[in-house]
Amino acid sequence: MENKRIFLSAPHMGSKELDFVHEAFASNYIAPVGPQLESFEREFAAKVNTKYAAAVSSGTAALHLLLRYAGVGPEDEVFCSTFTFVGSANPVVYLGARPVFIDSDEQSWNMNPELLVGEIEKRARKNRLPKAVVLVHLYGQPADIDPIKKICNKYEIALLEDAAEALGAQYKGKSPGTFGMAGFFSFNGNKIITTSGGGMIVSEDKQLIEKVKFWATQAKEPSPHYEHTEIGYNYRLSNVLAAIGRGQLRVLDDRVKKKRCIFRRYRDGLEDLPGVHFMPEPDFARSSRWLTCLTIDPDDAGIDRDRVIGRLEENNIEARPTWKPMHLQPLYQRCEVIGGHVAEQLFRQGICLPSGTGMNRKDQGRIIRIIRKCWEL
Ligand SMILES: *Cc1c(COP(=O)(O)O)cnc(C)c1O
Repeated sequence: MENKRIFLSAPHMGSKELDFVHEAFASNYIAPVGPQLESFEREFAAKVNTKYAAAVSSGTAALHLLLRYAGVGPEDEVFCSTFTFVGSANPVVYLGARPVFIDSDEQSWNMNPELLVGEIEKRARKNRLPKAVVLVHLYGQPADIDPIKKICNKYEIALLEDAAEALGAQYKGKSPGTFGMAGFFSFNGNKIITTSGGGMIVSEDKQLIEKVKFWATQAKEPSPHYEHTEIGYNYRLSNVLAAIGRGQLRVLDDRVKKKRCIFRRYRDGLEDLPGVHFMPEPDFARSSRWLTCLTIDPDDAGIDRDRVIGRLEENNIEARPTWKPMHLQPLYQRCEVIGGHVAEQLFRQGICLPSGTGMNRKDQGRIIRIIRKCWEL
């Protein structure tokens, strides 16, 4: 079929996932915790080169646990990236705190370190420092972590990294998510690897990892009658899903290679079109290119982003606008925003192209031809 649906980033299983799931069934560890889960945590920590990991039911749950560990509570403020998915801000509100949104820079599309430093210094003079900073690494691209880490260290603000979209990327040779107090990843259906749903917290801090695991299992004290002194959640990843994750981890490097190759083919096929600008890759970053993103400047292109998405949809191809900034969301429009114009522009002009690693060269060629045709009208 010439016209089969092409998705933005469909799940792509390797050859080992089912073997591990069979192991889980054979051992009858269908219950949440079990040997697959422990292996997945150990293997994941080794993969991103950090000491400890805790597998949970989603990336959003991971951030909820981390913000609580950072002591975030009612009346507190948490600085977040405005250009992101809503999952990197909602848990701030679960805890009764308020997000303050920081604009992106043009070189990484992620949090602008200069804006952040300026705002924190200003707050320090007024004695109104945020309790935490949630730093997102969007579309597989690391933010400029060093200056952000430096200012957080200076004022003892907890730095939490939202690396949900950035597994397999590198910042100065190391995995994003491993620089702050803790970081987290997501295994939601369209992420670079998936367990159908799930998340992972990583940290060098053993105490942190033990505490979040404790909260994630209803804060159950070690006693046979289920003693409770703290409020907890049902946030642990299932042993069966961890088995899928173990298989997926074994194909991660290959997926990154493929994602970068998909990006290069789009760039080679489209970069000469007037008004087209691909998401840059700064010197400090090796992006996983989870999704190939670009902007279309309608003044130079003579066509806008929405028309291109529409043309692709007519051909049964799923492309999407880039994330709508949080400060433009009805949910968060009353929150404070520092800057905002860069993220607004990236949203107005940005498009994410189908980047599934299961997509073949022919499919991608078809997408490129359809996009090029938009410029000939
Ligand atoms: C997917 C995602 C999350 C949330 O992860 P879930 O596993 O879907 O809860 C958080 N932040 C970003 C940037 C994401 O893309």
